[in-house]
Formats: sequence, C-alpha cells, structure tokens
Amino acid sequence: MTEARVALVTGANKGIGREIARQLAALGCRVWLGARNHDLGAAAVAALRAEGGDVHHLKLDVTDNESVCAAAARVAEHADRLDILVNNAGIAMDAGALPSELDLRRMQAMYEVNVFGAVRVTQAFLPLLRAAPAGRVVMMSSGLGSLGNQSDPTYEFVGYNSLGYNSSKAALNAVTVVFAKELAGTFIKVNAADPGRTATDLNQHRGPRSVAQGAAIAIRLATLPPDGPTGGFFNDSGRVNW
Ligand code: NAP
Repeated sequence: MTEARVALVTGANKGIGREIARQLAALGCRVWLGARNHDLGAAAVAALRAEGGDVHHLKLDVTDNESVCAAAARVAEHADRLDILVNNAGIAMDAGALPSELDLRRMQAMYEVNVFGAVRVTQAFLPLLRAAPAGRVVMMSSGLGSLGNQSDPTYEFVGYNSLGYNSSKAALNAVTVVFAKELAGTFIKVNAADPGRTATDLNQHRGPRSVAQGAAIAIRLATLPPDGPTGGFFNDSGRVNW
C-alpha cells in the first residue's frame, strides 16, 4: 500500500479535471484519473505519466451504478484508503436555451451527471474516504449555481440564465452541505469549488481563465489543513455566496 496520498478525480481526461489530476500528481499524490472513455482516459494518463506523475486510469462513468461500484472496488484492491475525491465531471447542455422551452430530458441528463453522479461517486467511495486520516471531498460547482449571484443584477454572468445547468449546480451546493453535516464528526471535509469561467470544451474555450487558474481552488480545498473549513463554497477570492 502506498504512503502517498491517494486521489480520485472524475471526468479527468480533459479540461479542468485533467489539470487537477496533473497538479495533484505534481504534489506527490497517487492519482486515479477517472474517465468514462477508455482511450481518452489512457491518453491523458500517458501524458501525465510522461511528466512523471503517479497516475492511473480508472474507467468511470458517473451516471452508471455498475461502473462506479466497479471503480470503487478497483481502487480498494490497490489502496487501503482514499484521501482526496474531486467530483469534477460535469456537463452543460442548455446554454442559451430559454428555461420555458428547455426539454426536460436535457435537464434530467444534466442532473444525472452534475448532481446524482457526484452523489453516487461520493457514496461509493465513502468507505475508503473514512479510512483516510484526513479525507477531502471537493464538489466542482459553479458561480452560476449561486442563488446570490443569480439574483444579483450586477453579477458578471447574470445573463447566463440556464435552467438545467444553474439549478444542477445549486443542487450540488446543497448536496455539499448535507454531506458535510453528516461527516462533521469525522476527519472528512466536504466543500464546493467555483473555478471561474475557464477556457474548456464546456464553453467552446470562451472562458478567460486557464485550466491552471480553474484548478487552483479545487487543489486548495483538496489539500485543506485539519483546521480548514467544511460545508463551504469557495473561489480564489474566498467564500462564494450560496
Ligand atoms: P470539460 O472540459 O467539458 O470536461 C468535463 C469532463 O467531464 C470530461 O472529462 C467529460 O468526459 C466528463 N464527463 C461528462 N460526463 C461524464 C460522465 N457521465 N461520467 C464521467 N465523466 C463525465 O469541462 P470543464 O470546463 O473542465 O468542467 C469541469 C467541471 O468544472 C464541471 O463540473 C463544470 O461544470 C465545472 N465548471 C466549469 C466552468 C468553466 O468555465 N469551464 C465554470 C464553472 C464550473 P468526456 O470527455 O467523456 O465527455
């Protein structure tokens, strides 16, 4: 069994997740790189290993119970604990769509990944997280999931009025709080991260921030000291309004 911290990042074959995996590996973690597509996951692993990272592909579709259970069993075969879980996998399918016209099936598909996926993975890996001396769970949320931001007419992105995406991230924030409350008596901390608008496939690379900037808050929350917060929502500047 490894002495290095063991980390899992979901949806890590590209974008912010891949960068989080890269930075955790650079910090000396053994990283399980979650990817639903084998070839894309294997390619990302090969690239991060070429940089010297202790990175391993974990086939993981967060919407699929069997896939998630198999992934948890596989990690348990190789590690006696999970120190860091970053629930990063996320999709946005309703940019520009009017809430009154959004096909409910698209909204459900977003909830399957952004909300139920994060819950499914967290539940499946909790036994391993409980076995860690200082488990850290990071939920990749969004400033668009903040009701405070959304109801503030001066909020930079108030025009992004997406029914499915925004409400799924608001739900993920609520999920963060309830897990943090359940786990308050343990060494596990659960926090939500807002990476800021980052250039990735999610927004056709229109975000002004780099993936390194987008990953920074997740890295901070994944490596919180024992006196760090739990049950909060943070970006680079500090706490984000719920
Ligand atoms: P991205 O480049 O589109 O990457 C999303 C990742 O999620 C991909 O690896 C994708 O895999 C994976 N994924 C999608 N569905 C999945 C599933 N069912 N099971 C497992 N993995 C799945 O997006 P990103 O910008 O890096 O986003 C990462 C996270 O940050 C998301 O939660 C997003 O909502 C959040 N976020 C992003 C921004 C931004 O400006 N980019 C802002 C705020 C929050 P495939 O390649 O197989 O599709």
